Amino acid sequence: MASDDPLKKHARIRSAETLLIVLGDQLDLDAPTLRELDRERDAVLMMEVREEAEHVPSHKQRTVLFLSAMRHFAAELVERGYRVRYVKLDDAANTQSFASEVRRAASTLSPKRIMMLRPGEHRVVETFEEFAEEWCAEAEDRDFEVKEDDHFFTTIDEFAEWASGRKSMIMEFFYREQRKKLGYLMDSDGKPRGGKWNFDKQNREVFKRAPRPKKPYQPRPDDITREVMELVERTWPDGYGKLEGFGWPVKRAEALRALDDFIESRLPRFGAYEDAMWTEQPFLYHSLLSSSLNLKLISPRECVEKALDALDRGVATLNNVEGFVRQLIGWREYIRGVYFTEGPDYPMRNGLGDEGRLPDFYWNAETDMRCLSECLGAVVDHAYSHHIPRLMVIGNFALIAGVEPRQVHEWFLAMYVDAVEWATAPNVVGMSQHADRRPDAAPGETGVVGTKPYASSGKYIKRMSNFCDNCRYDVNKRTGEDACPFNALYWDFLIRHRETFRKNNRMAMILKNVDRMNEDTRAEITVAGKRLRERFGIVGGAGSSP
Ligand code: SF4
Repeated sequence: MASDDPLKKHARIRSAETLLIVLGDQLDLDAPTLRELDRERDAVLMMEVREEAEHVPSHKQRTVLFLSAMRHFAAELVERGYRVRYVKLDDAANTQSFASEVRRAASTLSPKRIMMLRPGEHRVVETFEEFAEEWCAEAEDRDFEVKEDDHFFTTIDEFAEWASGRKSMIMEFFYREQRKKLGYLMDSDGKPRGGKWNFDKQNREVFKRAPRPKKPYQPRPDDITREVMELVERTWPDGYGKLEGFGWPVKRAEALRALDDFIESRLPRFGAYEDAMWTEQPFLYHSLLSSSLNLKLISPRECVEKALDALDRGVATLNNVEGFVRQLIGWREYIRGVYFTEGPDYPMRNGLGDEGRLPDFYWNAETDMRCLSECLGAVVDHAYSHHIPRLMVIGNFALIAGVEPRQVHEWFLAMYVDAVEWATAPNVVGMSQHADRRPDAAPGETGVVGTKPYASSGKYIKRMSNFCDNCRYDVNKRTGEDACPFNALYWDFLIRHRETFRKNNRMAMILKNVDRMNEDTRAEITVAGKRLRERFGIVGGAGSSP
């Protein structure tokens, strides 16, 4: 059957020697699995299934991004001569799960070999492992092969080797080894360019007045994306977040243009202002490339190469370029390594024993705390906020208020356009919620990713943003009706967990402040914290100690 729709072109193929499964976050035209395919005899299988779209709630923009990017990718494969069996979400025959769709495709195409890149989530790895075991047991000459994803600089085995035997996995040490291994920003004498491994001191600038960054390139939805937007609105009318203004790259050409736009317009100020925040400015000088990277539309190599070229051309200075390179070759690789090395229990860890409920305002941004309404509002509108709102406002509030980490993790996984579990779990459960303590950890060891919790009072938010200027709460007050809720919750957090943190040297100074408080003050804070948790619906009781 001939069709104008490229996704229907191979709807009737009846055989494939090798069937390559491509998942929604494996959209790499240069993947090693694709290079192996014979375009005449083999076939690619891509599936839109409800099981994946619904296993956690999903922001509408996130769902649209995945589905539209998959459709664009499949169309591009067809154009390059690959045979593609594409199962759309609303196809009548769609059985709506990975395992049953692979089974259906395999019974039609009778491949001898099924191949895929390693999925980025333990749950999905297990699904395919189970399928592979059953399918291969049914006939002797069948093979199910999972290949390493060479999108990354580091394989999981290489990371495991680096991590093995280490008492603590500190990112900075991993990053320095990456720099040496890859040769990025290194001088010929083996020393880091500019004499320093990082330029953190130069990269903590705040805005003294409203910043005016150039509007980032955001592609307009084309016919494919508009069709997917209608599908998503129709299928999940009560889905979270807004769809209007969707402007995320859905194909490689758009992602490359977004990369160039960042390099020329925002990289020159990226590092210096990477921790700063400002009202109604969710993007500032950030790259906005994480969704394109996590879907594999672009590679971290080409991002680094372009940033280094900008340094050579004098477009951006070393502190700005180094900050960007560190995110790509250091942090991103490190958290993926942690996710796979720590194992499937990692996202469920609850090292501080907190069991509070995530407040409703996380889903709609309706709160009178200005910092949270700004940062959550950006998430509702764009399925995005940069790393400091994630860590020091949204994540920080959940941490100090005693919300169960699993709920925080699932919220981040649902609401961010760049959310994939290998990235979200260590960033949220580890870095943000300080909950990734191993079940067999020694006393005093509280986390894997972080050596101390990223908890703060309203003071940090005031220093790094203008949010407090227009808030109904007083950032300088600790208790009372108009006191900034971050303040009482922060001190209450330290009081609740002080015996746990006492063995942590990095917490010693701050705990001295708690110890110096008299009993009445501590009791007043405890009562204020409890009242706030009740008021925000964080019922269920915050933990006191693991
Ligand atoms: Fe946020 Fe407190 Fe500042 Fe208000 S006063 S914006 S609640 S930190």
